Amino acid sequence: MTALMSTYARSELAFERGRGSFLYTADGKAYLDYATGIAVNALGHGHPHLQAALKAQADKLWHVSNLYTIPEGERLAQRLTERCFADKVFFTNSGAEALEGSFKTARRYQFVTGNPQRWRVISVTGAFHGRTLATLSATNNPKHLEGFGPRVDGFDQVPFGNTNALRTAITEETAAVVIEPIQGEGGLTATDKSYLEALRAACDEYGLMLIFDEVQCGMGRSGKLFAHQWFDVEPDIMALAKGIGGGFPLGAVMASERAAQGMTPGTHGSTYGGNPLAVAVGNAVLDVMSEPGFFDQVQTRASNLESALSELHARHPNKIQALRGMGMIRGLRLDDSLPAVEAVQALRQQQVLTVPAGDNVLRVLPPLNTNSDEIALFSRAVTSILN
Ligand SMILES: *Cc1c(COP(=O)(O)O)cnc(C)c1O
Repeated sequence: MTALMSTYARSELAFERGRGSFLYTADGKAYLDYATGIAVNALGHGHPHLQAALKAQADKLWHVSNLYTIPEGERLAQRLTERCFADKVFFTNSGAEALEGSFKTARRYQFVTGNPQRWRVISVTGAFHGRTLATLSATNNPKHLEGFGPRVDGFDQVPFGNTNALRTAITEETAAVVIEPIQGEGGLTATDKSYLEALRAACDEYGLMLIFDEVQCGMGRSGKLFAHQWFDVEPDIMALAKGIGGGFPLGAVMASERAAQGMTPGTHGSTYGGNPLAVAVGNAVLDVMSEPGFFDQVQTRASNLESALSELHARHPNKIQALRGMGMIRGLRLDDSLPAVEAVQALRQQQVLTVPAGDNVLRVLPPLNTNSDEIALFSRAVTSILN
């Protein structure tokens, strides 16, 4: 009997070490990891540059709190803001905290710019924003909410893709709109340029903050550093986590100067957020992603993956209904006769790791630096479970 709470239906599989795209059990069996700890190990396992950064920091200093300046955190924030719309960063330990911080930033913006009545946040159906009480409310998935009392107030939801419904839902109390440019848990539905432009226009017209949740689709997953950079639409606030620490717990609230203006001393905090170990690894991840040609290579591999998935789709039209996602965040929408959970288990038997997502989607999240041999191995495993 485990002493852990039974919140997860865990597999009995346990891994001892990892290298590149593979995880190894104690008895030496290798598994191709196309789940990457749910979009976390962006650079695979045991990346030498990340290991060296963590070891060097571990020998120097682990934790000081945000009472003091953390130079590596200043540097990581500076580098992240140079690569996108944002001017300001607040570091967190997880995605849900990055969303909480994003909601608070949006509400404070409204408060300090003369609209204290604006505090509600609109999300879309199929979203996933986390498991804290506020992020559960924004997610609005009945399965996640059951038994936890009334939904936290201040969150409204509209159908994905419907701009008219969004405009109708905006009231004098609305502060912000939150959306994932590519939905993760919900089933890999991607937004598009015109939808994001319509959201941007509605937010500008009504004075709302546009929040992008790039916890899963950000940090290179889409083939660019941030997914919204494919669509040329900028948010006011963005939540990051997962890939940002390459496996070390780290998250971030990113905001424009204007959006961050209410976040003055004392308004928000975190004991661990941006601690020296986390930001040392965060800088190491960004070093690798900043190497010349890094994203060209990710895009080449992503198109190899796309070809492999298209071929699987063409060969198994009755089992695979559609391809979803983009870059290195992909999904196979399976026929209802083949539940995604069962496909994940069958692939595990073949020593290939994937994750199910909503809407019966098999989610494929390779390390960004996977290669064509590994993609071929993945393809063969999927073929063997579909035949
Ligand atoms: C995983 C995820 C979260 C929550 O992140 P945690 O680190 O589990 O709190 C929020 N939003 C999206 C899009 C996610 O994929």
